[in-house]
Amino acid sequence: MSDEQQVYARYVSWLDQQVMIGGRGDGLSTSDMDPSTVFWLGKLAPFAPAQDGVDRRGRMDPCAIGLRVRPSTPAPWSFIATIEACAWTRLDDGRWEKSDTISVPVPTTVEAGAAGLAVGADALERAFAGAGLPHLRAEIQVTDESWRDGEPELIIQLVNTSTPTSPKGQGYLFESSIAVSGLQTKPFVLEALPDSFRYDRRMPALGINCGVIRDDIGNLSTTDTIVVDRRRPQYAFGATSTDCLDLTFERLAAQPVATLTELVDAYAGWGNKHWSEDRLQQRATLEGWTAQMITDAAAAAGEHRDELDRLRHGVRTLKNEPLLMRAFALMNESMAHAGRGRVDRWRPFQIGFIVATLPGLLKDGAEWPTVETIWFATGGGKTEVYLGLLVLAVFYDRLRGKRAGITAWSRFPLRLLSLQQTQRFANALGAAELVRRKHAIGGDQIGLGYFVGRSSTPNEIPVFPNDQNEVNVEDPAMPAKYQVLIACPFCGSDRLRMKFDRAKWRLCHLCDAQDCPSSGEPLPVYVVDQEIYRFLPPVVIGTLDKAALIAMQGGMRAFVDGPAGECERPGHGFTYARRSKRPNGCLVPDCKAGVRLLTPKSRGDFAPSYRLQDELHLLRDSLGAVDSHYESLLDTLQSTLAGSSAKIIASSATLTGFERQAEVLYQRAGRVFPQPGPSAGESFWSEETEDLLRRFVAVWPRGVTLEWVSDRTTTIVQQSIRRLREDPAGICSEIGVDVSHAQRLIDLYGTNVVYGTTLRDVEAAQRSLGTQVPVSPLNSVQLTGGSLFEDVKTALERLTHPETNFDDRVHVVTASSMMSHGVDLDRLNIMTVLGMPLTTAEFIQTTARVGRTYPGLVYVVLKVGRERDASTFAHFAPFIEQGDRFVEPIPVTRTSRRVLELTLPAAIEARRLFVHEPASPGERLTMVDHLRRYFAMGAISPKAETDACAGALGLPPDAHLARDDVDAQLEVYFARLSNPGYGAKWPNQLLTRQPMRSLRDVETSVPITDD
Ligand SMILES: [Zn+2]
Ligand SMILES: [Zn+2]
Repeated sequence: MSDEQQVYARYVSWLDQQVMIGGRGDGLSTSDMDPSTVFWLGKLAPFAPAQDGVDRRGRMDPCAIGLRVRPSTPAPWSFIATIEACAWTRLDDGRWEKSDTISVPVPTTVEAGAAGLAVGADALERAFAGAGLPHLRAEIQVTDESWRDGEPELIIQLVNTSTPTSPKGQGYLFESSIAVSGLQTKPFVLEALPDSFRYDRRMPALGINCGVIRDDIGNLSTTDTIVVDRRRPQYAFGATSTDCLDLTFERLAAQPVATLTELVDAYAGWGNKHWSEDRLQQRATLEGWTAQMITDAAAAAGEHRDELDRLRHGVRTLKNEPLLMRAFALMNESMAHAGRGRVDRWRPFQIGFIVATLPGLLKDGAEWPTVETIWFATGGGKTEVYLGLLVLAVFYDRLRGKRAGITAWSRFPLRLLSLQQTQRFANALGAAELVRRKHAIGGDQIGLGYFVGRSSTPNEIPVFPNDQNEVNVEDPAMPAKYQVLIACPFCGSDRLRMKFDRAKWRLCHLCDAQDCPSSGEPLPVYVVDQEIYRFLPPVVIGTLDKAALIAMQGGMRAFVDGPAGECERPGHGFTYARRSKRPNGCLVPDCKAGVRLLTPKSRGDFAPSYRLQDELHLLRDSLGAVDSHYESLLDTLQSTLAGSSAKIIASSATLTGFERQAEVLYQRAGRVFPQPGPSAGESFWSEETEDLLRRFVAVWPRGVTLEWVSDRTTTIVQQSIRRLREDPAGICSEIGVDVSHAQRLIDLYGTNVVYGTTLRDVEAAQRSLGTQVPVSPLNSVQLTGGSLFEDVKTALERLTHPETNFDDRVHVVTASSMMSHGVDLDRLNIMTVLGMPLTTAEFIQTTARVGRTYPGLVYVVLKVGRERDASTFAHFAPFIEQGDRFVEPIPVTRTSRRVLELTLPAAIEARRLFVHEPASPGERLTMVDHLRRYFAMGAISPKAETDACAGALGLPPDAHLARDDVDAQLEVYFARLSNPGYGAKWPNQLLTRQPMRSLRDVETSVPITDD
């Protein structure tokens, strides 16, 4: 472990100890409040019989803790159970005083069949009396549960059998624990989960209302929290370490085939060792594999060989395709430039995925339709893989002759894209543009379109502000509001400025740095939807919900086909369908210039080659169902109009069910890279180091609310960092680190995140900071899906570059799932999670926001009334260590009729805009009268249009009920169209409902079933 990492790991340990002490009351001798209402760990309520037959209270405020063990010998069983506890007494002046701690070893012998055998009551009574606590009673209860599966199994519990008293706290035990020594036990084996051969399934014992740890000689003792450490992975080691294998961008640009062959050979060599039959046989014997596990392992070894073949095929493809080879070299040159000396090489899995995908980039190749999915732990460097692929794709398109138009549309399934994420894309494309200029590769500039929901940047810049669009070109402060770059993608300078160029009607990012390759020209970044339509940057990044525009915006034609033409006035860009306000189709207001129309053939060349989908696993439930229809709509429009299809590249945080996901969303087969290694800690692509990545602490709040625990945790975290500020020498010596580290620790651990799974939880946490956390000053920010773009921007900026004075900084961030993606800040290292998130995937993503570079500390405060939380607590160690396996299969369907009702209007409208209007002889189809004449001409019958709409949404032919719904909606549509008396003027008035404005409109309201 590096010295620096060790310093931070020690701080994390020390801080966790402070929180633990605060939760149990260790070290305190007096209290002003009833301790039973203050502490949340280590306490046991007096036994009270269940009131209503259902003992909920047992879970909320337990009167017992204990452990479930498997003795390795038959009955009778003998052991020593040692009880520790103390108690609090109220003094005459109202204050509370803590007793001494009792420690009572109780020799215990248990016969087979024991049920609630009570032991130690007398010894404990004497010990309590000796500590001045004559009213307290406790006992050890032991039950033989060997009947469960025939193997010896015991429950050993400490029960507080005192009578409830007034005041309440006097009947409680505090700082209680039970330890068992002298009993030989066997581990429990977790019930079968998929690919069990990869994981250690053993648990030494199971805790009851607590955790259990086992020491080296087999003694077991209860713990109040369950602490699980994850270690930081490394990606280049052994045969791929930097001195064995040179994966620098520079060498890959110069000698791609030789370098990649070395990588593939290293993988083959590794596989021969780790996946060999001998090795698997050995493990099967040693670890006692079942027949099923042996079969699974053999199948997985086959998957490894397939992956090796894929990589070899990738290298061959590169060798055989000179244009691809050249694009690959240019991409590496660009990545070197974008890395600015800080990053100069690929991680093996990153370049591995790109190589494995190469055969799939050949448009006429057999692998073009395959959905390529990358699966890798969060924080592993997935974004760089996207960047490499996108830059490669852009150059490959250019070399194949596509000079303009969108190459790839990258979609992120969130409401907002972080500025850091955007900046990384801009940097890579900026570098690619400079490389393009250097090598004199033709075509438009390589730039980036920022295509994000309405809240952050405008859809268009209106001539005058109005009800729908408040952007005011006369307001000198307007342009700055929409700055999305932090630094210049060409030169890295932060001397950026925003300007609205009235003549060209453009909202520009400009770099003022001297010697910037931009030479004062606007940077190739487009943040207004209409500018994206006008300039069609080769890479468009944005939020998934923008797909909804396909039913509304004429400019979306370039996302499935190409523009209508190009304006002859320089700087106006591409043109689209003519409208009364845009008589020539140019999107610049009042432009009357001539237009060069495109031929259908050249228009087709504009169609996007790729759609990239980040975090595929999040497209589930209603969002997934809606998206599946829009994906089909995009696909069918593109194949109808441009005669091509876009390849899908995706990432997923989980392997569970990705094939079904690809099938439902895209109606295509999918494959994933990389395949996991033969055991959890063993992969060619990554391995764990000694360094602490994150410490996870599961907290079961006993007898107090989750909010109380969260507030107290925040209080202790914030008080601790303030103590370090006030007394660096004293506290550093407590932590065991040199005082010179104090300032760095304050910078890295001075902000904690409180994460709520619902908006209500986040808002409650935010409110209680002001009243329940007695620390001042305490500055906080709230980040949720509803936060304004500008507020998020400011908050992230403050977190990235904190104020010099600690008192001015952000101390607490309260956040929802909005921050579970793309917020990458080295300074966020402490988090409290309020209750288990709805899905394991969200848990993994969310907690990955802390500890990205330095050791993180995550408190998982459970909602003890919920089964899911209770079961997570019971399996917390395997849950954290093997999180991927707990990821739930993804529920997604494309045949939901309720979703169809919402998406069908989009198919009708998109077909009107992009299929019928271009085919309509000389006439716009923007009025019902026009449309009526068009359909009356009989180019397409209502029946054929109905079939086309069902096909556009990808409805399977056997979805009869859904087909009936399409028929019914289109029947209404055509009835209204053919009846002038209906009075519709605009085509959308013919619809039974308006197209969705966002793919998320459905999210909260509609339960999705396969009906
Ligand atoms: Zn610059
Ligand atoms: Zn124009």
